[in-house]
Amino acid sequence: MGAERTILKTQVGIVGGGPAGLMLSHLLAKSGIENIVVEKRDHETIRTTHRAGILEHGSVRMLTETGVSDRVLSEGYRHEGIDLRFGGESHRIDFEDLVGESVWLYPQNEVFTDLAAARERDHGDVRYGVSDTAVVDLATDTPKILFTDSDGRDFEIHCEILVGSDGSGGICKRSIPKEARTDNFIEYPFAWFGILTRAAPSAPELIYANSDRGFALISQRNDEVQRMYFQCDPNEDAQSWSEERIWDELQARVDGPDGFQLTRGPVFEKTVLKFRSYVCEPLRYGNLFLAGDAGHTVPPTGAKGLNLALADVRVLFEAIDSFYATRSAELLDGYSDKALKRVWRAQNFSYWMTSMLHTRADATLFERKRALGELSGVVASRHGSAYLAEAYTGWPNT
Ligand SMILES: Cc1cc2nc3c(=O)[nH]c(=O)nc-3n(C[C@H](O)[C@H](O)[C@H](O)COP(=O)(O)OP(=O)(O)OC[C@H]3O[C@@H](n4cnc5c(N)ncnc54)[C@H](O)[C@@H]3O)c2cc1C
Repeated sequence: MGAERTILKTQVGIVGGGPAGLMLSHLLAKSGIENIVVEKRDHETIRTTHRAGILEHGSVRMLTETGVSDRVLSEGYRHEGIDLRFGGESHRIDFEDLVGESVWLYPQNEVFTDLAAARERDHGDVRYGVSDTAVVDLATDTPKILFTDSDGRDFEIHCEILVGSDGSGGICKRSIPKEARTDNFIEYPFAWFGILTRAAPSAPELIYANSDRGFALISQRNDEVQRMYFQCDPNEDAQSWSEERIWDELQARVDGPDGFQLTRGPVFEKTVLKFRSYVCEPLRYGNLFLAGDAGHTVPPTGAKGLNLALADVRVLFEAIDSFYATRSAELLDGYSDKALKRVWRAQNFSYWMTSMLHTRADATLFERKRALGELSGVVASRHGSAYLAEAYTGWPNT
């Protein structure tokens, strides 16, 4: 065996310093609950990795009202609707009119920047760049996190509650014995080809486009950089696509009689994003609690992943806070069931948006026409549009 490990003691040990882990750490610290976060990537890598971009109003309130930062309000973009585009025509889903809410375009790396700065400002214990993380003794009163820090020193965190917020590829859920968890998942026969381009926005709000050639999402980052995606084969080689071919493919998916044209610019990132729907049940084993992508992942079509991670944290924080305030484990015992209610609603919404908007390569004429019937049913009905608007902007907390 290697050299001796230094033992650290804390109340809550957190694996993963993404939005879920850092937000939980922030809320716990505000409530006087000690915690340590271990994160395998370094700060700069997380800060420069492009992922989600749409925040529900509830997520925005969580960032601003808990004192993380107000930057989302000054540097984010408030969107009061989206366009559904099919048959070459755009149909606006007006969130404000339908449900009186909106969403904010504010990239995940900015959310990370704000959370990491808040933890630093408040002297939080966040250890970046760790390796060889393992979680043990999960079903005991003292679950432990083992890790090696960025200077090569070995540590062991002894905690009372261990939170796995280590994302979809993390170790925590895999540390739950197979017989104690159910892995619910489906895979999709398509992926997203994503680009970042230096160009002016093509539209003021997101466009979710369905066409015979497949789905495309025209989204934005800020006034200078835009994010766009189109449906592709999961085995597509992004590097083999020239800029011209990418732009022609994106344009072909939004072409229509209104002559709508994308604003082209140099492409500086291209990736193929595979996705699936996954839920681990329950989100608990002994004193290990899963939050965010560590417990569930959704396809990106409904913009729910980051928001769901923050929604889990809201429920888990209340449960941990109540445990330390009262020593009653009632809310902790209810965490998994409560969080999973929202998770399954979001799974359904993400699945529905994905299947409604994508076109399978082997779709028959009947399936194509049925899909267009579904889309026109949604935009023609105030109730159909309101369901989409409510789910997209975020259900009230339960
Ligand atoms: C390319 C991409 C695009 C996406 N686009 C969208 C989108 O448009 N809309 C949307 O809503 N969602 C999107 N998502 C999903 C969204 O980014 C996630 O839902 C969100 O990041 C979840 O936050 P989290 O904190 O639960 O997990 P994460 O952000 O994944 O954070 C988990 C952290 O744990 C760390 N970690 C993992 N293993 C260990 C370990 N062994 N030890 C220590 N640390 C560890 C990781 O480094 C990571 O920083 C996208 C995801 C990807 C990958």
